Amino acid sequence: MAAETIDTLVVGAGQAGIAMSEHLSRNGVPHLVLEKNRIAEAWRTGRWDSLVANGPAWHDRFPNLEFTGTDPEAFVGKDRVADYFAEYAERIKAPVRTGVEVLKAERLNGSGAFRVETSDGVIEAQRIVAATGAFQHPVIPPLVPQAAGVHQLHSFHYRNPGQLPDGAVLVVGAGSSGAQIADELNRAGRKVYLSVGPHDRPPRRYRGRDYVWWLGVLGLWDAAAQEPGRQHVTISVSGAYGGRTMDFRRLAGEGVTLLGMTEAFEGGVLAFAGDLQQNIANGDADYLQILDRADAYAARNGLDLPEEPQARAAFPDPECLTRPLRALDLEAQGITTILWATGFRQDFNWLKADAFDGQGRPQHQRGVSRVPGVYFLGLPWQSRRGSTFIWGVWHDASHVADQIAIQRHYESYRGPAGCGADQA
Ligand SMILES: Cc1cc2nc3c(=O)[nH]c(=O)nc-3n(C[C@H](O)[C@H](O)[C@H](O)COP(=O)(O)OP(=O)(O)OC[C@H]3O[C@@H](n4cnc5c(N)ncnc54)[C@H](O)[C@@H]3O)c2cc1C
Repeated sequence: MAAETIDTLVVGAGQAGIAMSEHLSRNGVPHLVLEKNRIAEAWRTGRWDSLVANGPAWHDRFPNLEFTGTDPEAFVGKDRVADYFAEYAERIKAPVRTGVEVLKAERLNGSGAFRVETSDGVIEAQRIVAATGAFQHPVIPPLVPQAAGVHQLHSFHYRNPGQLPDGAVLVVGAGSSGAQIADELNRAGRKVYLSVGPHDRPPRRYRGRDYVWWLGVLGLWDAAAQEPGRQHVTISVSGAYGGRTMDFRRLAGEGVTLLGMTEAFEGGVLAFAGDLQQNIANGDADYLQILDRADAYAARNGLDLPEEPQARAAFPDPECLTRPLRALDLEAQGITTILWATGFRQDFNWLKADAFDGQGRPQHQRGVSRVPGVYFLGLPWQSRRGSTFIWGVWHDASHVADQIAIQRHYESYRGPAGCGADQA
């Protein structure tokens, strides 16, 4: 049986795949989107129960569709976000086929096309856009062996406090996920230890505006690269409980014990780096420089926004910060769970193309790979800080679709009459 053919195959129907479909349609590119689960599955089943978007509804969306029936300043729940993308796909009539996994894609010998094996047959495509996301496989550092007898799970598998065995919890990682989950567990009455690494923690709101607005007007979402030496800094923010600045001193005041980076495990004892004070100080510096830049922006543009000097007041240093613990005996402290909020890795195993570096990372320029016909979308810092986020991926998709349209334009050129293949 002849294989189904398509010009451009998009793999993955999360926000990246849906944005890609919209821009391909705008450019008149025939395409198909294959999704192994459901549209926006990660938002539906890959998040904890209480998760809300980190940005307000007016911001964390695509430009052409607002969240209806929601206060634009509110933080939308994860299921509503998933529904939004399903509705969006329907509106733009995105040609999405769900429940179909791409197993392998490789270029056919002697042809520009790719042979794509899927769980539902073979497809031949001229181009492939890998829109499978930056958050595919949870990563747990190999520090604590399973035999240690403590329950271990990744934030990807966390749902709610009731799911965890009784006892204290060590949350490792204080990006948005770890910090939010630590807050939730602490509110649920658990004793919580939080291992804090390098982070940025912008103010939730300042002078009446949400931080997403400040980062936008300051050009920080569009920054093309992180500052040198700060490659792995995560943003710690939260829309939970109406949206509060992620303040680790406040969390400590509410009962959470802060620790430095988790370093080693031996004989039931976890060791922590001596970097807690530095990590907190760097987070404070990031916070304060956003306030400074916001003030400068307001002054420069004559904005009549209420001044907020109290935003510079810090909570008192808790004892866990002035005299940080360097070791924790899990049993002695009653710690029954380690929750790893330690990030994700990408997986492009299915894509057999010379488009990766030695560590399997895509080699690309703004999503255009060095292999003709292979494109990526939704990668961290693909073109800018906002690239993995809802509002950012839409713009990256526009660029990738443009590049595809340009290639198709050249490919369709047949040369002057009487030249080329027809003459042979
Ligand atoms: C906890 C958490 C909270 C976040 N909160 C926010 C937020 O508030 N605001 C924001 O803007 N961003 C947020 N993000 C970042 C980002 O918006 C989401 O991770 C988003 O899901 C990324 O979308 P994506 O389309 O790039 O990837 P995904 O949503 O992961 O979509 C990729 C899709 O590809 C499919 N797929 C993978 N492999 C194959 C295959 N071989 N064949 C077929 N299909 C395949 C998967 O099933 C999946 O549906 C958050 C991320 C996390 C982890």
